[in-house]
Amino acid sequence: MSLVPPAPLSPPSRVAAMPAAGVAEPSAKLLGLLELMTNILRRFAGLADQDVDAGIQSALAAIGEFVGVDRSYLFLIDDQGEYLRNTHEWCAPAIHPEIDNLQAVPFAEIHYWKDALLRGDSVYVPCVADLPDTRRFERDILRQQDVQSVLVVPLVGPDRLRGFIGFDAVRQAHAWSHAATLLLRAVADVFVGAIMRREAYLALIASERRYRALVRHSTDAVLILDTDFRLSYLSPSIERILGWRPDAWLGRRFFAACHPGDVDQIAAAFSAASATPGMGSAVPDHRLLHARNDWVWFLGTATDLRADPAIGGIVINAHDITQRKAAELALQHQALHDPLTGLPNRALLKDRLAQSIGHARRTGHLLAVVFIDLDHFKLINDAMGHQAGDRLLIDAAQRLLEILRAGDTVARFGGDEFVMVLEGNSDQPESLVSAAERILAAFERPFLTKVVEQVVTASAGLVIADGNADPDELLRDADAAMYLAKERGRACLQRFDAPMRDHLLDRLELVSDLRRAEQEGQLLLHYQPLFDARSRRLRGCEALLRWQHPRRGMVGPTRFIPAAEETGLIVPIGAWVLNEALRQMRAWLDAWPSAGKAPASGTGVCAAAGAGVGPDGQGLFVAVNLSVRQLNEPRLVETVRALLERWRLPPAVLCLELTESSLMAEPDHCVAVLSRLRDLGVSLAIDDFGTGYSSLAYLRDLPVSKLKIDRSFVASMQSDHGGRNIVAAIRTLAREFGMETVAEGVETEAQYQALRLLGCDMVQGYHLARPGPADAMDVFLRAACGE
Ligand code: C2E
Ligand code: CA
Ligand code: CA
Repeated sequence: MSLVPPAPLSPPSRVAAMPAAGVAEPSAKLLGLLELMTNILRRFAGLADQDVDAGIQSALAAIGEFVGVDRSYLFLIDDQGEYLRNTHEWCAPAIHPEIDNLQAVPFAEIHYWKDALLRGDSVYVPCVADLPDTRRFERDILRQQDVQSVLVVPLVGPDRLRGFIGFDAVRQAHAWSHAATLLLRAVADVFVGAIMRREAYLALIASERRYRALVRHSTDAVLILDTDFRLSYLSPSIERILGWRPDAWLGRRFFAACHPGDVDQIAAAFSAASATPGMGSAVPDHRLLHARNDWVWFLGTATDLRADPAIGGIVINAHDITQRKAAELALQHQALHDPLTGLPNRALLKDRLAQSIGHARRTGHLLAVVFIDLDHFKLINDAMGHQAGDRLLIDAAQRLLEILRAGDTVARFGGDEFVMVLEGNSDQPESLVSAAERILAAFERPFLTKVVEQVVTASAGLVIADGNADPDELLRDADAAMYLAKERGRACLQRFDAPMRDHLLDRLELVSDLRRAEQEGQLLLHYQPLFDARSRRLRGCEALLRWQHPRRGMVGPTRFIPAAEETGLIVPIGAWVLNEALRQMRAWLDAWPSAGKAPASGTGVCAAAGAGVGPDGQGLFVAVNLSVRQLNEPRLVETVRALLERWRLPPAVLCLELTESSLMAEPDHCVAVLSRLRDLGVSLAIDDFGTGYSSLAYLRDLPVSKLKIDRSFVASMQSDHGGRNIVAAIRTLAREFGMETVAEGVETEAQYQALRLLGCDMVQGYHLARPGPADAMDVFLRAACGE
């Protein structure tokens, strides 16, 4: 492109000026004009776009001079075809220029010209003065400019009329030959071509400027990849967005800059783009490497323009979506994490667990799920306050995180429950077991709550599984194993195995059956007599629950009472037992041989030494076992009172048995409830005494009238003297506190004799009588009333 304006066109040397108007045009003049036109055409053919204006200017001047007119000019019409604008003008010496007056001439005003020009015709006015009145307007304008004659030639573009060129004669009229007019039309065509080329050029410059500005300032990166997926172009914006120096990345493989996790979907987008060349195909959210070595999120399109020679590759337009992504990730994090500890929550845990199982399936390795529960967390939380509890949970989470290995997950499952998923690196479970054991070791150091150090142990359940496991089942089994760890004394790890599953399933089934047991009349009570140790006469009996299961047959309480306590079913069942035992008591008393006289209230329980039930049934009692869950029922005392009333029984016929360990759980609360029961007139016994390690001082405060010596002591009496000594000690102690002693599990005559000699008040056991249905008690009752 030449930046130098073209030299002015000089008139052909061999040709003289044209003759004046009216004189026939000699062919030599026409030839001169032809030569001039040829020069103009040649000049324009090589004219650079930015030199078009100068070229037109000098061509107009050369023609004007050569032909001998006074003014030559060019007008352009605006896009709407409404206004004319004089863009170029040449004037002979001493001729006044008009260009400044002619910048916005309404085209319609010279309607005669307009019609002709729009048809593509030239307009030739050989003598302005001769113009008829119908063209008065045109005549007046031309006269104002002293024009004698004029020729205008249209600039006809391919789409529309672009304007015209014109030649004024001022000093004297000029005559134009038809041939000269035709030559000028050729010049006009050259001008139109040049003008349109220049317009396109200016438009291109403008759009390129716009484009450059856009590319430089946009948050979009534009990349072009060659057929090898190597970078062949990087937009300047890449430096700002990714910190890349564009030239440093030229020629490198694009995938080297992609996040490994996104390569597949980017490659898929490229294939999709290749399948539809020229059409953009979406590149979903993906990450590109930033120069500072972290990832920037993009969303983009890939377009296959390999067929376009100007591009020759795949064009990627990628938009920086880091901020949107950050917001998205924050939301996602919130939805998948526990706000207190920041650990993954249950939902994310399940996801990770499924991933780990998938990994195990692919590698053939094992994985472990460890279910961790803090021991006595509720107690700490209640005693120290929620803030301290939260602090403890955060610290516990931190400790678990510290022992986490790559690929493992720790999640907060619920309140004080955490779950860890450990990925093994072999099909041998040993390493996973020791990894799980290390978890509990993390709790050996005390925690700092508020200002005191607090020892917090944890119980854990472990399941080891392979790639065929089901996430929900794994969690359930690990939970069940943890539960067993709690049952087995806490602060330990329990591994889940197949027998445990059977046991748990069995228990599960039992519990679901138990819900219907009461309504369907499957529960019943057996009774075991208690005898006076010295006289061996009947004193009372203990009600023992039985379950007549439709398939399993008679089920003993040790098999279902723990489950009933766990599920809370013990509360309605216990109420049923109380009612049934009292109903039975009423029935026995009503059937008493000396019936009619209800047993007198109260006094008979602590019968005189050697005594038994009185002749009218006086002093007979029934012992009912009470679960600690029932003790926590706010309406317990009320229920007992109502039932006694319902069966018209004095409170002293009822003795409630509570195990020593259940009383130990919440001693203050127990003392309060027991006191209210004693005030009611009901007698109370401590069951399984000796197994719960209760302090003797504490025993003194309990409003209890009987101690039942656990049968393990009775059993050990013969084999070692320790057993006998313990029984003797309990006996002494009880007497000191004004309590009676009952020896349980008396299986032999020797045991009975020994207990009698040790001064026990009552005895109970297979040797004396086994538990049996209510009518089996008849024998003992009849014996008691002397029949
Ligand atoms: P427990 O209160 O210590 O009841 C005595 C248990 O010892 C009974 O077992 C009885 O059959 C058994 N037994 C009696 N004499 C002997 C003996 O000479 N040798 C041996 N080896 N055992 C003897 P059972 O009926 O299986 O009851 C077990 C436990 O179930 C009871 O222990 C009691 O803690 C609980 N239980 C029974 N019925 C109820 C109830 O209605 N409510 C509640 N909460 N618990 C109950
Ligand atoms: Ca009992
Ligand atoms: Ca017992």
